[in-house]
Amino acid sequence: MAAQKDLYDAIVIGAGIQGCFTAYHLAKHRKRVILLEQFFLPHSRGSSHGQSRIIRRAYPEDFYTQMMDECYQIWAQLEHEAGTQLHRQTGLLLLGMKENSELKTIQATLSRQGVEHQCLSAEELKQRFPNVLLARGEVGVLDKSGGVLYADKALRALQDAIRHLGGLVCDGEKVMEIKPGFPVTVKSTAGIYQGKSLVITAGPWTNQLLRPLGIELPLQTLRINVCYWREKVPGSYGVSQAFPCFLGLGLSPAPHHIYGLPSGEYPGLMKVCYHHGNNVDPEERDCPEAFSDIQDVQILGRFVRDHLPDLEPTPALLEPCLYTNTPDEHFILDRHPKYDNVVIGAGFSGQPDIPQSQSSEDL
Ligand SMILES: Cc1cc2nc3c(=O)[nH]c(=O)nc-3n(C[C@H](O)[C@H](O)[C@H](O)COP(=O)(O)OP(=O)(O)OC[C@H]3O[C@@H](n4cnc5c(N)ncnc54)[C@H](O)[C@@H]3O)c2cc1C
Repeated sequence: MAAQKDLYDAIVIGAGIQGCFTAYHLAKHRKRVILLEQFFLPHSRGSSHGQSRIIRRAYPEDFYTQMMDECYQIWAQLEHEAGTQLHRQTGLLLLGMKENSELKTIQATLSRQGVEHQCLSAEELKQRFPNVLLARGEVGVLDKSGGVLYADKALRALQDAIRHLGGLVCDGEKVMEIKPGFPVTVKSTAGIYQGKSLVITAGPWTNQLLRPLGIELPLQTLRINVCYWREKVPGSYGVSQAFPCFLGLGLSPAPHHIYGLPSGEYPGLMKVCYHHGNNVDPEERDCPEAFSDIQDVQILGRFVRDHLPDLEPTPALLEPCLYTNTPDEHFILDRHPKYDNVVIGAGFSGQPDIPQSQSSEDL
């Protein structure tokens, strides 16, 4: 058994947003924590990289909307500690057909939960956002609390905070083997570690680590094209014009959601993406077969032409990213059924970036 000084309270595998938040909360609770990341940081091979993410209270389920109160507080706290802006409130505009059931459910949830929002008819939308065109029957709901999170800056702030709180962040160390038990032993490409508990937040690689532990989760990894579209007049869809994030629900011709964020992260370009992609093994993300048969860019091009007429309808920039989804798009946060000091957090791409705090308090 390792000497007490080498026994960590928790070992966390994976320095995406979930692993970073987990290690941060553990360190804040004065736990001896080590965070292991297979790639050198920062990296762009998982799900958490890039400049921006949407944060919102507008969900169909009451429990997500309720959880977001704590999330906003945690983001504000981190922002305060880091002394840098990580969040910008822009509002989130939901777009859909008036009778769209998801739109109606979200609207009802927002009302029930007392979240400030506004239902906008086509006419009101036209006045408020003249550079958004709606098809007949489409309406909007504005969740005023929605906004942008600065993803890469958040990861950096968390990793700095973990170190500042006495935790270890070890990058370029791939975990190769887990020996469950007490203590749990983890072998990486660079060392062997022992911990009282283990948290696996390995995103698309989760099942690679779980299979030898006797379980496999129903996770689907998708390659997503993050598309940026050039503004005909730079800044016209930007935050300076008070343009919000948006989420299109079931809009023709898109069977899946389409979402966008105000321009700004790349000058003159607006991010508009399709909430679906091709099934892919995370190691094969950039093989041509991984993105040959998906119609996402064509679907987005038609959406941009019809709804955002002040953007050029072909993307100026494409960046790959990975989603990890469960069949019902709700994330998994649980203990291993046989080893209760092993906690697993996975499948977060369908739902909000809930900063993990409860899990770490329970460890
Ligand atoms: C294009 C795109 C847009 C999105 N937009 C939004 C949005 O607007 N709002 C929102 O809330 N969410 C959004 N998401 C979802 C959100 O980004 C993800 O839910 C989140 O990043 C998942 O983080 P994670 O830590 O679970 O996984 P990851 O970020 O994939 O992190 C897992 C980490 O584990 C490491 N790892 C894996 N195996 C090992 C190993 N054996 N040893 C060591 N390290 C290992 C990986 O290298 C990786 O760094 C979006 C995602 C994408 C891709």
